[in-house]
Amino acid sequence: MRAQPVEYELVAPGTLPAVLSLLAQEPGAWLPIAGGTDVMVQYSAGKLPARKLVSIWNLPELRRIEVSADEIQIGAGCTYTDLREHEIVNREFTLLTSAASWTGGIANQNRGTIGGNIVNASPAADSLPALLVYGAELLLVSALGERQVPYASFHIDYRKTELAPDELIRAVCLKKQFSGYYAHARKVGARNAQAIAKVCLAALGRMAEGAVEDIRLAVGSVAPVPIRLIETERIVKGKHIDPQLVDLARATVAAEIKPIDDIRSTARYRAAVTGNLVAQFLEQLSVRGAQKQKTKDVLVRWNALPSDKAAEEIMPCCGSRAWARTMAAGRPILDEAALLAACDQVWNGLPESDWMEAFRSHPRIGESHPPAATLAPSAAWSGEEQRGVAASGEGVKVALQQGNRAYEQRFNRIFIVCAAGKSAPEILEILERRLQNDEKTELHEAAEQQRQIAHLRLMKWLSS
Ligand SMILES: Cc1cc2nc3c(=O)[nH]c(=O)nc-3n(C[C@H](O)[C@H](O)[C@H](O)COP(=O)(O)OP(=O)(O)OC[C@H]3O[C@@H](n4cnc5c(N)ncnc54)[C@H](O)[C@@H]3O)c2cc1C
Repeated sequence: MRAQPVEYELVAPGTLPAVLSLLAQEPGAWLPIAGGTDVMVQYSAGKLPARKLVSIWNLPELRRIEVSADEIQIGAGCTYTDLREHEIVNREFTLLTSAASWTGGIANQNRGTIGGNIVNASPAADSLPALLVYGAELLLVSALGERQVPYASFHIDYRKTELAPDELIRAVCLKKQFSGYYAHARKVGARNAQAIAKVCLAALGRMAEGAVEDIRLAVGSVAPVPIRLIETERIVKGKHIDPQLVDLARATVAAEIKPIDDIRSTARYRAAVTGNLVAQFLEQLSVRGAQKQKTKDVLVRWNALPSDKAAEEIMPCCGSRAWARTMAAGRPILDEAALLAACDQVWNGLPESDWMEAFRSHPRIGESHPPAATLAPSAAWSGEEQRGVAASGEGVKVALQQGNRAYEQRFNRIFIVCAAGKSAPEILEILERRLQNDEKTELHEAAEQQRQIAHLRLMKWLSS
């Protein structure tokens, strides 16, 4: 006898209140479907128990990212691509954008949503350890109203959550409180994208006076739910990182996790890898701590210099005397972030004549000889920045020379580009594009490139 084909019903009411009203009328009868990347896998495997599906894909209320002074609210319907392309998420919540970048392939990232990842509640889901370390709060909404639940208490057991049958996740809230932390995310799988994690780690740490001031560790795929490594955090906090502490951390991690054998890996392998990932993070955090101390030493010495000496010392980072003088007048500057922010503020406020002075301090792209008045550190940094050009073939170099001439005839000044990490053909392409700019647009592009050069040089100066 042939099995009867199964009937499915799919509705798309189009607004959040209409979806919530449907869920309230028959709690548990309707399964929300967002991007469908988990639901459709279950459907294709014949394992989808729900017969009635309500689409929440692209509901405007779930697709917004709202940023306030101290918080960011990410709509649950935002896709991984939305996260990767959002400036603030990218800058301040890098653990989330790293996870987004290795969740499936591009098609999956265009479709899969953060809300779907949370409710699907896989212990191996990539974004969940990041939510744990950031202390994410979830906004759950139903026809009766809204409630806020920490993500840490939402995911209660293997594939079980606190979500009521008539509720949706509306948004994920993250506090903007981790600037100055070193962020580190790792996924160990057959490969990064298109593979389920054997182990994944999200970690944040901050060093002060050579010791771990704060640390937050979360892992996925090593217990029925993603977990914070609270005990490991406790034994590390306040300590100097040395080999004994790293060994103790490894042992503590092993006692905190509950990995299992499955088709992707063994429990033993998972335990060893988790310990290694935490050890690697601690070692990198220790290096960052040493760099931070170096930065502090440079700034303490510089803050104590007389103004003219202080200006003279950082002048090669930019090339404008007015910039260097104003930076020196703005001391004391206490850390790297404040230094870079001051750099931008001073640079953007200078008149064009000072921008021109900075531009003139550079050698032409492709030429190793800087102008005679160029300061020695600036000349050395230019050489390093133009390493990619120096290594290129004669043909591109000649094309660059011609491009430089065309640029100077058109704009009456030297072509400025932040050359670090760029090859000669890349720079040539940029030059040809910028030759099409009008004068005003081009001046601002050149100023932006000079700002980027100043940042790189300030960082080099801080570690000198
Ligand atoms: C090829 C492929 C590769 C993948 N790779 C990875 C990977 O590397 N890492 C990883 O973590 N995941 C991976 N996934 C899983 C999947 O893409 C993610 O879990 C994704 O985030 C799910 O989002 P979605 O919108 O597609 O969810 P859907 O499939 O639409 O829904 C999943 C579940 O969440 C519920 N749901 C969705 N949104 C809400 C909401 N706002 N409120 C309440 N309930 C909701 C649905 O009812 C359903 O139960 C992969 C999937 C595929 C098909």
